Amino acid sequence: MSEYPVRKPSVVPYVASWSGELAVFENELVVQLARGGPRLGYRNERPSDRSGRDEVLWGRMDKLPGAGRPQYDCMHPARQYIAMYSMKCQICGQSASRNEDGWLFLDWRKPYDPPTWPERSLTAMPPLCETCARVSVAECPHLRNTEIAVLRARTPRLWGFSGTPYTLTADGWKGHEQDALLPCGDRRLRGLLASCLYRELRNVTVVGGGLAG
Ligand SMILES: [Zn+2]
Repeated sequence: MSEYPVRKPSVVPYVASWSGELAVFENELVVQLARGGPRLGYRNERPSDRSGRDEVLWGRMDKLPGAGRPQYDCMHPARQYIAMYSMKCQICGQSASRNEDGWLFLDWRKPYDPPTWPERSLTAMPPLCETCARVSVAECPHLRNTEIAVLRARTPRLWGFSGTPYTLTADGWKGHEQDALLPCGDRRLRGLLASCLYRELRNVTVVGGGLAG
């Protein structure tokens, strides 16, 4: 295997969280008696705390990009949502690249991917602009020694959510240590504190070395 010189990341991705941005305390979570039964809610909830037809509760985190140290392996829930929902570049936050073959994504094989990968891959990583895709391939330490694809997806459809699943007990909500990944429409979304929006990459064209130029 050839050795690549490891370049230090030159930019902090738009979606990265910072150590000075703190998440909400669990004691702000309440049981809401909504249509269809109890669901997870905030004590002082705002309409902007929920997303989509399933009205999924979104994890709250301070919005202080630049405070403390960047946390490259931990995305900020609100910025991930904005980038993934509005198809903004995950690195610079500007519009992601789109051409006749679709939106530009970087994807790598994960254990739960279908054999058709990268077709029908589920991803929480928002799209990219061409400039940032080139920089990511050159600099991202996670992309070394993994099977990655630079691709275009014509139909990156909204698929679902991941986050911390909560179960209602006699003592209130009990959080689980392991994150859950749930599709839109799943009943268990009522107990999810979401941190990532997922898209399913459909009608994929792999862009070999086609990023140059
Ligand atoms: Zn960009």
